[in-house]
Amino acid sequence: MEDIRGLKKSELSERLRELSEPAYRAGQIYDWVHVKRISGISEMTNISKKLRDRLSQEFYITVLSIEEVQSSKQDGTKKYLFSLADGNVIEAVLMPYHFGNSVCISSQVGCRMGCRFCASTLGGLVRNLSAAEMLSEVYAIEEDTGQRVSHVVLMGTGEPLDNFDEVVRFIELISDPEGAGLSQRNITLSTCGIVPRIYELSELGLKITLALSLHAATQEKRLLTMPVAGSYELSKVLEACRYYAERTGRRLTFEYAVVKDVNDSMEDARRLSELAVSMHAHINLIPVNPVEECGFSEPPRKRLEAFYNELSERGANVTIRREMGRDIDSACGQLRRRYIKNAGICAD
Ligand code: SAH
Repeated sequence: MEDIRGLKKSELSERLRELSEPAYRAGQIYDWVHVKRISGISEMTNISKKLRDRLSQEFYITVLSIEEVQSSKQDGTKKYLFSLADGNVIEAVLMPYHFGNSVCISSQVGCRMGCRFCASTLGGLVRNLSAAEMLSEVYAIEEDTGQRVSHVVLMGTGEPLDNFDEVVRFIELISDPEGAGLSQRNITLSTCGIVPRIYELSELGLKITLALSLHAATQEKRLLTMPVAGSYELSKVLEACRYYAERTGRRLTFEYAVVKDVNDSMEDARRLSELAVSMHAHINLIPVNPVEECGFSEPPRKRLEAFYNELSERGANVTIRREMGRDIDSACGQLRRRYIKNAGICAD
């Protein structure tokens, strides 16, 4: 059995051709799945009962169930905990901005990258999400809110480039004008820096923004918090990012979680500004979101501002990320982690 949401239109056409169905049938079915957003194959009312029965033997439609929703009273951020068909749970976050609704989705159940400040990786990787499941995160939020999602960021739990094929399929599906039709320019993929996959992504001709989780401006410092730096040296990661930018014409984003007494010195700011200016990258400063188990804290506001000013004065293009939903469990993986702990699924 296969999730019909994960098939591209061309693949669906091929499958229907094998069933001796006319070509237009694929369009009708694709429309039911991705535009009308049915939750069961039996709802395709312009398709014969016979074909629906046949399709039901091969396909199902993922429907995520909402386990919990937390709504921020401060800014309208909504954090969703979804359960998957196999009982695993994942998080996604809706952030309403003046330019539209942005959704941050998970690409894996758990993560194996081991970044020391991140809650998502504490229990390791459980499994990859399918393209259909990622798509269903967005569809479920649109259904819950009755509003369109205009931007998607792959910045939830998981390392998207560690689940390359399904993530690329997801991007192709969600940006298909015959489906959800989200502009690729409104999609951001965030990576901790898996060099070979960045090159692979560069060749696909996608128009998405690449965000690099930099978090330190030198290899030595990066190694202290990001084990992935042991496999891919910073200079190689930056070279790959430069290639991505040249190949796609898209401006890079550097994410930098500012951690008190770890990476918040003026020397850190100077080095960071050099990297960003030379690569025309936009810097997104994120005051680190404290995770109980990790023991890091955010710098005082004054220090953060001084860090920002130093970057800005040196000509870097920088913003401090709005702290969305700080009154809810907003750090990556915190809602899922609490849920798993309470359910006694995870002993650590
Ligand atoms: N694996 C991908 C995407 C998921 S994490 C990546 O590494 O980019 C999305 C972003 O949130 C990353 O930049 C990540 O480093 C950052 N992040 C994780 N935990 C955080 C925390 N406690 N505070 C601030 N940012 C955090």
